[in-house]
Amino acid sequence: MNSYPMTDFEKALELVLQYTPRLEAEQVAFHETLGRVLAKEVRAAEPMPPRPASAMDGFALIAGDPAEWREITGEQWAGPAEALTVSAGAAVRITTGAPLPPGADAVARVENSREAEGRVRFDRAIEPGDNVRPVGEDMAAGQLILPAGTCIGPPEIGLLASMNRLQVPVYRRPVVAVLSTGNEIVEPGAPIAPGQIRDSNRYTIMSSIVQAGGIPHSLGIVPDDEASLRAAFHRGLKLADVLITSGGVSMGQRDLSRLLIEEWGAVHFGQVKQKPGRPTVFATVDRAEFPRRKLIFGLPGFPVASLVSFENLVRPALRKMGGHNYLFRPTVEARLTHPIRRKGTRIEFQRARIEQQESEWQATVTGRQTSGRLLSLAGANALLCLPIGAKVLAAGEVVTAIRIDQPETRRAFHAIPG
Ligand code: AMP
Ligand code: MG
Repeated sequence: MNSYPMTDFEKALELVLQYTPRLEAEQVAFHETLGRVLAKEVRAAEPMPPRPASAMDGFALIAGDPAEWREITGEQWAGPAEALTVSAGAAVRITTGAPLPPGADAVARVENSREAEGRVRFDRAIEPGDNVRPVGEDMAAGQLILPAGTCIGPPEIGLLASMNRLQVPVYRRPVVAVLSTGNEIVEPGAPIAPGQIRDSNRYTIMSSIVQAGGIPHSLGIVPDDEASLRAAFHRGLKLADVLITSGGVSMGQRDLSRLLIEEWGAVHFGQVKQKPGRPTVFATVDRAEFPRRKLIFGLPGFPVASLVSFENLVRPALRKMGGHNYLFRPTVEARLTHPIRRKGTRIEFQRARIEQQESEWQATVTGRQTSGRLLSLAGANALLCLPIGAKVLAAGEVVTAIRIDQPETRRAFHAIPG
């Protein structure tokens, strides 16, 4: 292990969020804002609907008109308003969504009408306002539609479209450069010699960056030599907001990422009292040559450790950069279907499947929990958050499960009991 003191997980998370800036806003075409966060509120420029409109197919007329039979004096389809007015004794054929002709104060439904010789009568009483959508029924001019901080989904994009808000201020997505280190690491597809392993971390991390709303940029596999690593760090820090390295943060002779992180940045923690992912490094770079602060995460080489550290420490940071208010996933209390024996010296995030049985959740760990066994994360939908101290958990005991298959709904990390 490296020589940094062990930082409690909660403290590490706090440090990450404390040093992580929110990025600036940029103007984006409304239809390209899915998943982005609004930097400024949006108000309705005009009322919706902008003029009275029919809510039904039928006839526009004057409700209080005593005539039993009304003359059909024209047709108003959904579309541009015709030069029509409705007076006593008259009715205009109208379709759903069509503008109500001046003079009319109600729409009678076609189902309740009978026509003969160009005239129409109705077998139901008609009240003023029937089947008419008044001006501003959906929204008034100036009304607050989307507050700042809204995460944009399909309905929000629809509202922006109907309000003709073509460009929208949203927080920029973080650009994240990723490199793998290690002389034993080989690109998938390339020939492999005994003792070498294929690079999985760069791909798990880059796809996790996409899921967290970031833009990944690959710096490839960097061999364990100082000059190559220094050059890769410089490239990454120049082009990205965040640099993520995988491997090389333990205490080995060839663990150079740690040394390069120290060379480039101020280290806030270098070991976290968690399992997996103890050798996780976090640093910030504030240098005149870069216009803004950069973050560096040195993730462990072991595939599960790097992904779990990403989930718990990097993902909240990327979401904060992108302007999100909700940084943490929902949790549930889940009952263990089997006992768990552990050392209990660090907070532990065990990979599990949780399933709802009637009114309670049941948790089953995904087999062996070593930090190299990526299979323990495949198909897992939860991380069981096991506190320091609990050595033996019996079957039937209740633990807190972080739902890693659910979008964030919490402003604070809640998974640690006590
Ligand atoms: P390190 O922290 O560099 O000593 O890496 C620890 C272990 O993680 C190595 O022995 C590899 O088995 C594994 N590892 C490191 N980098 C990667 C990677 N990019 N993809 C998959 N496994 C890796
Ligand atoms: Mg290595």
